[in-house]
Amino acid sequence: MKNIAILGASGSIGQQAIDVIERHPEHFNLVGLTVGRRVDDAVAIATRLNPKIVSVQYEEDVARFSHLDVKVVYGDEGLKEVATAAHNDLALNALVGSVGLSPTIAAIENGIDIALANKETLVVAGELVMAHAKKYGVNILPVDSEHAAIFQCLNGEDQRQIKKITITASGGSFRDLTRDQLEHVTVEDALNHPNWSMGQKITIDSATMMNKGFEVIEAKWLFDLEIEQIDTILHKESIIHSMVEFVDTSVMAQLGTPDMRMPIQYAFTYPNRIEHDAPALNLAEVAQLNFKKMDLERYKCLKYAYDALKIGGTMPVVLNAVNEVAVAKFLNNEIGFLDIERLIEEEMNAHEVIQQPTLEQILAVDHHYKTKEYEV
Ligand code: NAD
Ligand code: MG
Repeated sequence: MKNIAILGASGSIGQQAIDVIERHPEHFNLVGLTVGRRVDDAVAIATRLNPKIVSVQYEEDVARFSHLDVKVVYGDEGLKEVATAAHNDLALNALVGSVGLSPTIAAIENGIDIALANKETLVVAGELVMAHAKKYGVNILPVDSEHAAIFQCLNGEDQRQIKKITITASGGSFRDLTRDQLEHVTVEDALNHPNWSMGQKITIDSATMMNKGFEVIEAKWLFDLEIEQIDTILHKESIIHSMVEFVDTSVMAQLGTPDMRMPIQYAFTYPNRIEHDAPALNLAEVAQLNFKKMDLERYKCLKYAYDALKIGGTMPVVLNAVNEVAVAKFLNNEIGFLDIERLIEEEMNAHEVIQQPTLEQILAVDHHYKTKEYEV
């Protein structure tokens, strides 16, 4: 029986993780969960699964659990408390944004393995988080489908024999539009992802291709690769989740229907596998798999992510923080779709990089760019 805490249980990944747990009560026990605003969801989950601890974002929501036998905490401290809950074998970090960093660090320092969906953690502090995980002997198990794919392809392989990895990209909701057409797209259009149903922020990140940029950075730290070893390719069917080429030119890929419950479940059972009742992949039905070279001029956010990774230090923190703010403004109809990349480019150009930043410096830069007044 594995004891699991879920940070962000009401989100897209969080809900699918709850589904995985409820389908396999003989394997998994939910010990703790956190939600943001969706307190009703947390009350419902706590009633069904009887966790020991729940965290909500706001103190006024604590009373909503008074009829249940559960410890209730709140705010940023609450996130850390759930991440480190007693008897917790594994914490799934399914928070969105760099708010996921501090609870990840807290879990690591308590020797708790992490199933990591929250890619922003590795974007802003990948080097530090991986070094910390090594120091405390903690596994960081990737949930992002591309990284879960690479992780599976690397099972039993010698890291030194990797030539390169190729991360596949569906292309997001605007994959068939030109840059001119992008100028006037709406929030509704952007939220209409062709293959995956996900939270709003990552759906916009997929449309700008920033999501792929984040995944390049995530891969760098998870698999200890050089930037030149990380390639991306457009693959609109989202069937091949990513691949690894070895020094002898052999390529290993992981395939499956687009269903995040598979990588979530694998992170929960690693290194074992258990049944998963999603529809099996039927390649005869899929019939065709398409690929197209990635275009860094068309997808500027991906280029900015490569740039930020090359520059290093606090630049990826800026990339992420300005992106978080810009995406929120776009979702709020305050700025246009292409203003997202404009804002990021401007702020990256003006940023004075701190190399080898400490956690405090990372958090300070993150806070600065999240709270700054932007002129758009
Ligand atoms: P989501 O928006 O659906 O859910 C996010 C969760 O985080 C919610 O429970 C929300 O309440 C919580 N949250 C957000 N801000 C918070 C705060 N300040 N304090 C406390 N809780 C807070 O997002 P999602 O789509 O589930 O994505 C979660 C993470 O997983 C992201 O980093 C995303 O990039 C990554 N990811 C998601 C998918 C997917 O299919 N959805 C796939 C791969 C990776
Ligand atoms: Mg992904």
